[in-house]
Amino acid sequence: MKMMKTTGIPRSLGARRDGFARISVTAGLMCAAMSLTGAAFAQQAGAASAAGAAGGSPATTYTPIPGFDLTSLDRSVNPCDDFYKFACGKFAANHPIPADQPGMNQFYVLYNVNTQSLNGILTKTAAGGTERTAEEQKIGDYYAACMNTDLIEQKGLASIQPLLDEINGMRNGEPGKMQLPAVMGRLQRLGVNVFFGYGEQQDFKDASKQIAVIGQGGLGLPEKDYYLRTGAKDIQLRQQYEAHVAKMLTLAGRTPEQAKQEAAAILAFETSLAKASMSVTEMRDPEKIYHLQPIAQFAATLPGFDFDRFLVAMHSPQVTEINDMTPRFFPALVQVLGTTPMATLKAYMTYQLLTTTAAQLPKQFDEENFDFYSRKLRGQPEQRARWQRCSNNVNGALGEALGKVYVAQYFAGDSKAKMVEMVKDIETAMERDIDQLEWMSPETKVRAKEKLHGVANKIGYPDKWRDYSALTVKRDDAVGNELRANAFENDRELNKIGQPVDHGEWGMTPPTVNAYYDPSMNDINFPAGILQPSFYDRSQDDAVNYGHIGAVIGHELTHGFDDEGKKFDAKGNMADWWTPEDTKKFEARTDCLVSEYGGFTAVDDVKVNGKLTLGENTADNGGLLLAYMAYMERAKKEGVDLKAKKDGFTSPQRFYIAFAQNWCENARPEQVRNQVLTNPHSPDHFRANGAIVNQPGFAEAFGCKKGAPMVPVNSCRVW
Ligand SMILES: [Zn+2]
Repeated sequence: MKMMKTTGIPRSLGARRDGFARISVTAGLMCAAMSLTGAAFAQQAGAASAAGAAGGSPATTYTPIPGFDLTSLDRSVNPCDDFYKFACGKFAANHPIPADQPGMNQFYVLYNVNTQSLNGILTKTAAGGTERTAEEQKIGDYYAACMNTDLIEQKGLASIQPLLDEINGMRNGEPGKMQLPAVMGRLQRLGVNVFFGYGEQQDFKDASKQIAVIGQGGLGLPEKDYYLRTGAKDIQLRQQYEAHVAKMLTLAGRTPEQAKQEAAAILAFETSLAKASMSVTEMRDPEKIYHLQPIAQFAATLPGFDFDRFLVAMHSPQVTEINDMTPRFFPALVQVLGTTPMATLKAYMTYQLLTTTAAQLPKQFDEENFDFYSRKLRGQPEQRARWQRCSNNVNGALGEALGKVYVAQYFAGDSKAKMVEMVKDIETAMERDIDQLEWMSPETKVRAKEKLHGVANKIGYPDKWRDYSALTVKRDDAVGNELRANAFENDRELNKIGQPVDHGEWGMTPPTVNAYYDPSMNDINFPAGILQPSFYDRSQDDAVNYGHIGAVIGHELTHGFDDEGKKFDAKGNMADWWTPEDTKKFEARTDCLVSEYGGFTAVDDVKVNGKLTLGENTADNGGLLLAYMAYMERAKKEGVDLKAKKDGFTSPQRFYIAFAQNWCENARPEQVRNQVLTNPHSPDHFRANGAIVNQPGFAEAFGCKKGAPMVPVNSCRVW
């Protein structure tokens, strides 16, 4: 399990639910910089989707948005009144949401561009030929199998039939319960989200150790509260979920009556798991998800459950200790397993297997799965084109093999050198920022700088590429490829238990449009996929690039010092390096952000959750401040005339516009609702003004008066 903090883009667009399955264990602390909720080139995406429906490759070209986007500006708005409207006011009108996306934003635009680049690579390697390298064979055949929908139809459920038979062949009553651990292990190894999650993590308190971790999981809806809230929309969604489960079981051969009964029982079973689960907000607290114990002690919390048999089926190495992230969950699980009939548990596992593999099953399964998880849950009317989904599936399964080719073609020239320079500038700015902080004591400042100096910077792609030689890819077996890839990744993760930490490992593939901070590694990571326009635009000057990607770099760096990051030291160990007074002052300052963002109404009566989004908001605010400090210093070094105008704006103005344009979006209400309830990132447009109102440099850059909406008398400042 990686404990990363990301920029905020769901890891797998268009797939089933974003990154649930195995990652349910990790839900806790992965922290990226953005969230791909919804912007891009609408007219183009629509056309591309039509091309996809016809089969093969894209007929339309996605083009990136330039680093400084004059077309999104609404000059009729006073920047001192509403800076988001000023910088992004025309974005939504220029970028209607394509039917095959839940929304439109800068991340979707670049994601589409990158997907198109990957597709170019894959179309070539999929053509076959004996001159392909072993890795080209794997990525090409993985793509070809995924695209071969005729064969997928023809095969029906044949590829997963042995697994279905195994589940349905389990005995009833007690003997069946005895079989559960082994079946659970086999399914989890294949990426099926049944009952709970098991994986590997760096020990929070000793980051040099890699240990086993276990935690809550097994839910079909995104989060526990989806089972428990009582609003009309929530009740409706649960009814839709139940109907969806029934439909999937019917497609797999149950009679409608039986399927209906089973779906109701599955919902009741999952509701019991949800009640024993922690909330997404609680899961952000590393202390609440750390309960390291000897394996025998943990096994004792699972009376009657043969944990050893689970480990063997999971292909886990022997473990002597384990972190039980969610100690309240397992006793409840054992209890509900004891009282639930085997027939329900079999139906539950069957459904979970079907939904996991739906995208590679015949169209009826794929469509039904899409209908619930994307259309109903996130408001996306149409599926992405098959070529897009298959290209990204290869990125998910063989991301470093595909990424190697991607990097050679799309991350050339001085991109890396320029990024290294910007990262250094921003780290230097943070050092000065720490020195200048009024509220922090000298003792804590020494430790903060120690942590800052310990941050490792990873840019573009790994130094050493992953070895996929143990993964078999067959040109005629789409489902099998996916399950084997899941098992390969499972084994790779679990084999780290007990081994020394590889500090060169990446938690994202090179084409990913995202970035992350990992508190156990104490490193910041910027995949080549995000080092492209608009985030990094080689044709633009520093003002624009420091506003765009510079603020992202600052965001990731600040994660090392947000409410979670502050609990880890320079070596990545959970340790309190703060004086109690400094922690008190820090919390008073973060409370300011909790109430600021908690005041934003996202959709209908749903407000942004100030506590859930605190880490991200802290990172946005600090990141922007650091990027601006770094830019001003760089401009001084390069002798930039700060009063000179380009495109009608001074350099400081262009810096802030570029920053705000990171967050231009056009979103559907369903997607916003889903994001606010589950995602630690605030909706995009709040991320612009939410940080702008707290920036000391902004008023001067735009000549705003104190007391203007964007320059409130009381603002928040952490870093
Ligand atoms: Zn983040």
